[in-house]
Amino acid sequence: MDSSKTNTTNQRRRSWTPSSMRRTLWSSSESPTKDFRSNDDLKGVNVQVVARCRPLSEGEIREKTSSIISCDETKHQVIATQNTGSKQNDKVFAFDKVFGPNSKQIDVYDEVVAPAIAEVLEGYSWTVFAYGQTGTGKTYTMEGEGRKHKNGEFHENAGVIPRAVQQIFDVLERDSADYSMKVTFLELYNEEITDLLAPDNAKKSLLLMEDGKGAVFVRGLEEEIVCSVDEICAILDRGSSRKHTAETLVNKQSNRSHSILTITVQIKEPSTTDGSEMIRCGRLNLVDLAGSENILRSGAREVRAREAGEINKSLLTLGRVINALADNSTHVPYRDSKLTRLLRDSLGGKTKTCIIATISPSILSQEETLSTLDYAFRAKCIKNRPEVNQKLMKSTLLKDLYTQIDSLKQELRVSKQMNGGYGDHGDRHSADVLRKQLMELQELYIYQQQLRVDLEDKLLSTERELTTAQQSLLNSEDQCKQAKDMCRDKETVIFNLISSGKELTKKALELRSDLEGAALDVSTLFAKIEHKNNLEETNRQHVSDFYSQLVQQLQELDEGVSASAKSQEQNWKEFQDDTQLFLTSKAKAIDELFKQIENLKELHVSGVNNLDGSAEELYQKSQLALSRLSSELSAHSSCIMDLVTKKSSDAHAINNGLKINMNNLGLRLDAFMKQQEETHARTYHTSKYISSSLVHFFKTLKIYISKLTLIEEDCQTMAKQKLHAFTTKFEEISVAEEKLLLEEMAKLLANSSSRKKKMIQEAVDDVLESTSNRGEKLNLEISNMQSLTVDAEGKWNSFIETTKSNYVEDSVALEAGKCALEDDLQCCLRDLAEFSQQQRLSEESLLDAMKMNFDSEDSVIKNETAAIEKIHARFSSIAASFLEETQDATKKLMLSAENPLRLDQEASEKAGLLSARCLVSTKQTSSIHSEQVADVSRRARKSLVDDYLVDSWSCQSPRKRNVVVASREEIESLMSLQSPKAHNAVAS
Ligand code: ADP
Ligand code: MG
Repeated sequence: MDSSKTNTTNQRRRSWTPSSMRRTLWSSSESPTKDFRSNDDLKGVNVQVVARCRPLSEGEIREKTSSIISCDETKHQVIATQNTGSKQNDKVFAFDKVFGPNSKQIDVYDEVVAPAIAEVLEGYSWTVFAYGQTGTGKTYTMEGEGRKHKNGEFHENAGVIPRAVQQIFDVLERDSADYSMKVTFLELYNEEITDLLAPDNAKKSLLLMEDGKGAVFVRGLEEEIVCSVDEICAILDRGSSRKHTAETLVNKQSNRSHSILTITVQIKEPSTTDGSEMIRCGRLNLVDLAGSENILRSGAREVRAREAGEINKSLLTLGRVINALADNSTHVPYRDSKLTRLLRDSLGGKTKTCIIATISPSILSQEETLSTLDYAFRAKCIKNRPEVNQKLMKSTLLKDLYTQIDSLKQELRVSKQMNGGYGDHGDRHSADVLRKQLMELQELYIYQQQLRVDLEDKLLSTERELTTAQQSLLNSEDQCKQAKDMCRDKETVIFNLISSGKELTKKALELRSDLEGAALDVSTLFAKIEHKNNLEETNRQHVSDFYSQLVQQLQELDEGVSASAKSQEQNWKEFQDDTQLFLTSKAKAIDELFKQIENLKELHVSGVNNLDGSAEELYQKSQLALSRLSSELSAHSSCIMDLVTKKSSDAHAINNGLKINMNNLGLRLDAFMKQQEETHARTYHTSKYISSSLVHFFKTLKIYISKLTLIEEDCQTMAKQKLHAFTTKFEEISVAEEKLLLEEMAKLLANSSSRKKKMIQEAVDDVLESTSNRGEKLNLEISNMQSLTVDAEGKWNSFIETTKSNYVEDSVALEAGKCALEDDLQCCLRDLAEFSQQQRLSEESLLDAMKMNFDSEDSVIKNETAAIEKIHARFSSIAASFLEETQDATKKLMLSAENPLRLDQEASEKAGLLSARCLVSTKQTSSIHSEQVADVSRRARKSLVDDYLVDSWSCQSPRKRNVVVASREEIESLMSLQSPKAHNAVAS
């Protein structure tokens, strides 16, 4: 196939391809190559349907056309919004793929066509066709715009065709395949096939031929061999421009033309073991259909269109074929149109098919869009059974070519014979003419034959159509009936509209007359201003009336207030009396308190005197006892002295010889005497100390008592002072408050009573506190006295103990002296026999005298002790009674203090009651006052707001306006603006 590459770019040949080759162009009736059949192929593969929605055009955006389509690319759904009245009814269509308004050409190509190209190169036939309303982007998708290379890349708007060709070339180049590529480009318009690649002078309608096995081919279709993308682009441009010219010529029907670009690739397969060379043949049909709106329109006017003889049969049939295939009908009307015959293999055949349904988002194309989506959706059900095209052996292909050359040669020979060989120039010319005529006749014959076949087909299809037409006639009648009903409804609506228009005009006229009336009213308004002035005068009168009423009311109010003041005065007099009473009772209570305090004072004095007497007595007693004790002691000592002198003289007289012993005795006796004197002196000193400490004790006691008296006096003076201060303060405050209370009445009353209460409470608390302080002080002094007594007692006990120990000491010393004397006496006895008797006697008498002395001393001491104990007992009893009396006095004092307190409380209660009364009367007064004030304000409101302000709005002088009243003619002319057609329709 290298040779094909070296061919010139414009290499072209007439479609003399053997029928076996040509037949595979549109359909393949031959058995497929088994190797390529997959399970899917056997079961059938659904036609792939993708939807593409174009963006709103600039014009549509400018006109603010609303969009009714939304594309969900991930869910592969197109949602069409339908508004029926107030309801929104969304229709959802699911497809194999969905491309939204923002989708790019490259996306569509990559996802839809690129996979198909790979299969084409494997030997499959693929058909990609764009289906949709005019202007939705079929051509844009298939061919695209600006397909020129930009640095070797496509323009972003380049469509499927150039990209597919590029991919085919790329793959083949990459695989260094041996290949050839042929392109055909035809247009089907008004059931006529034209070759878009044929030279302009050879432009004619081509025949769609069918071999005996049902395969169709276009006779005489030009195939162009292409070697590069640029070539194909050039072919496409050329074909498109022609198509465009054709469209321009036929103007409105332009969108009824379909174009089919077929790319056939023949690829040489690697040599088999037996050396035979196989050619793989893939085919790609790229179809740009006419606007699908024709289906609808043709459908709507089917009868009329058929009557007219020429309709876009192809598109109509395509719809029917799709429906039949979707419904699995037994009969599929392929033969009814050339398009369906051409696409037969792509719809339910062996070719793989992809339909790109193009739609517009505009609400204006809603009907067409829904119809496109509906058809596309139905087309999804169509199943193809794709098969790989039969591979050709290179030898067969060559054989075919030779056969073709032979038949051509034979054709030439026949024509030569018919023209009688190449004779003279004229003969040759006539022979040429004849040959030409013959050829034309032959073509005509073939065409007639074809026409006959077509007519037969048509006859059959017409019969079938007749039955379907009858059915559709019935449907149409129903539809007609519905349409008539609808028309009637619409007519009623129009009639209603017109009548409402009339009504509106009537209303407008009425309004006009109202307006005239209003204008009249404006003039009368000025008259009303005059009237308003009069009203104002009346209002002034109202105000003056109101003033006099107000004065009267205020006088009444004044009287009410003065009466209230009088009652207040009365209340206050009562209050004053009560206060006076309270003050006298208070004075009495205070006197009682004074008396009590006086009693307490006397009691204290008598107690203190008692204590004083007892102390004096004690003092005298102790003095007496001490003097007696001293006299006794002196008597005792003199007695002993006498006895001793008597005895000494006796002894001197009796025993001179015992002088030394006697001297010794005398010395010892001196010593003893000295000791005795010392002892007595000690006893005397001790007694003296006791008496002095007792004197000190009583002195201290006296001081304490005098202190107590002073404290008591202090207390009394303090109490007196405080009570006096309280009385004066109370009087002062009472006098001051009387004045204030007269002014501020009820409000201050409450304050005053509470303040008084508080003051009395404070005074009482003060008295109580001072009393308790006094009690405490007394208790302290008493406890001091008790501690002193205890001290004195301790001292006294210690004195007794000392005396006792002295006595024992003396006794021991005496005993020792006695023993020593006895020893001396026994010595003397030994010396003095006679003297011993005398001595014994004197000794005994001395002992007796001494005993007597001791006894008397003992008794004196005992007596003294008893007397002192008695004094002690009496003193303690006095102290106890004094304590009790003090407590009683304190209690009485407290009781007497409580009495005035209670009286005070009573007085304050009375004052409270009085104040409450005052308060009630004040409240009554205030309520009366407020009622009257309210009455006054009510009256004032009535007079000022209701009566006086009645005409306040009219204070503003209205400005005169120019009222433009539309003329009756103007309003009536508005009515005539209504569509006369509608009017007529209603009228009819
Ligand atoms: P059809 O062939 O269906 O009649 P066209 O392909 O001629 O419609 O498109 C009509 C117009 O809409 C063109 O100007 C084209 O550029 C524009 N158009 C269509 N589809 C798209 C798209 N997907 N994106 C941008 N422009 C588009
Ligand atoms: Mg187009």
